[in-house]
Parts: sequence; structure tokens; C-alpha cells
Amino acid sequence: MEQQLSLFGDDLEPESAANREMILPERRPVPFLPGYKPEEADETFTTYTELEARLRQCRRCGLRAGCTQVVPGAGPAATPIMFVGEGPGQDEDLQGIPFVGRAGQLLNKILAAAEIPREDVFITNVVKCRPPQNRLPLPDEVRACRTFLEQQIQLIRPKIIVCLGSLATQTVIDSKARITKVRGQWYMRDGIRIMATFHPAALLRNPNYKRPTWEDFKLIRDAYKKIIHPEDTDEHKG
Ligand code: URA
Repeated sequence: MEQQLSLFGDDLEPESAANREMILPERRPVPFLPGYKPEEADETFTTYTELEARLRQCRRCGLRAGCTQVVPGAGPAATPIMFVGEGPGQDEDLQGIPFVGRAGQLLNKILAAAEIPREDVFITNVVKCRPPQNRLPLPDEVRACRTFLEQQIQLIRPKIIVCLGSLATQTVIDSKARITKVRGQWYMRDGIRIMATFHPAALLRNPNYKRPTWEDFKLIRDAYKKIIHPEDTDEHKG
């Protein structure tokens, strides 16, 4: 036995390490967000729990210094549907949960009407810390934070992403996208369907947005139902 070990012992380590490298090359996913570069990540996470723990310690931009806590997102990490908003507001900042204020309550009503249980949805924001006075996140803040959104998408791999409002639409669909033009249409990227619709806070300010938003949610509801109950689709009914 000792002879065998000395026969193979010296070579064993480096050779097996090299083999492992050949068999399992480092897997870098193709970036999902437009313009995102893998170098933007200080770290690549292999589980959602790891990502969330690191996010809670993040100081990549100045927002964390002015907010109460990080609001990473809420909902199951195994879900076919993900919603992306802009950034936490005051209520979210205090509770640590996205979409719990007035806009969130309206979103809850819309989800209930569309028969999409909120507890089955993963909800997050483009930036995870509250901007002061609820101002729009600055481009540098979005760039600093988007590695977390990118990696949330890569880890959760939803089948549907819904962008709530302009900032989410420009971060996820296209930096030049205009919400009034792109809302209500499906975009497909990397096997994921993406739809933009108005932000619920915009509906509170302008009730004229309610009808088109409901039209968008009917499409979202139908796509979600097809994923959850594929046996109910016409193809399956034969
Ligand atoms: N608005 C957002 O964009 N996100 C929230 O979490 C709450 C309000």
C-alpha cells in the first residue's frame, strides 16, 4: 500500500486538480441585465442565502449610510415570477420588506385580482436601500447595486419578470426604453419573459394608468397560469 502511495502520491494532487478544472470550468453565466459586466461583481454567489447575507453588509454606494436597513427582497427564491420595483420607500425602509407602503398595498390588490398570490412571488427593487426623501436612485447607485439584481435573477431564474415603472424597465429591458411605449408587451431574453407595466405609485398619482395596468396584468395572469397549470392550456386539453 505504501508502495502504491509513493508510486502515485506525488502526481496525484496536481493531476486531480487539473482534471477537476477540465471537467468543471468556472461557470460564468451570460449577463442578463443590459450593459452589465461580470467584473461588476465583487463576489459571485452560489445560493440566495449567501447573496442576501452579503447584501445586508453592502456599502458599495452612499445610500446605506442614510437608510435604516437594506431591503433585499421578499418571497420564495424558487418561484416562476419576479417583480422589480424602483427602491424602498419609508415604510419599506422601516420594515425591511419591499412594497409594504401605499404603493405596495395597491400592488397587493392588483395581484389578488389577477389571482397571483403575493406569497408565491419574489419581489425586489433595482436599489436595495432607500434613497433620501424617496428621490430617484442616481445612475451610480443603480450601477453599484445592480450586481445584486443580476445575481438574484441568475439564482432565482424566474420564468417571468415584471418591471414596475420606468427605472426597473430601463434597468432590465433597455436603458432607452420608455414605459409608455414598451408596457404591455412581452420581451423574451434567455428563456425569461419580461413585461413592463406602470409602477403602482404612478397609479395612485394618475388613475388613468389603472386601466392599461389591468390590461397588462391580465397578460401576466394568463402567462403565470400557463406555467402553474400547464395541463389547463389548450395544447394539453388536446
Ligand atoms: N416603491 C418601490 O419601487 N419599491 C418599494 O419597495 C416600495 C415602493
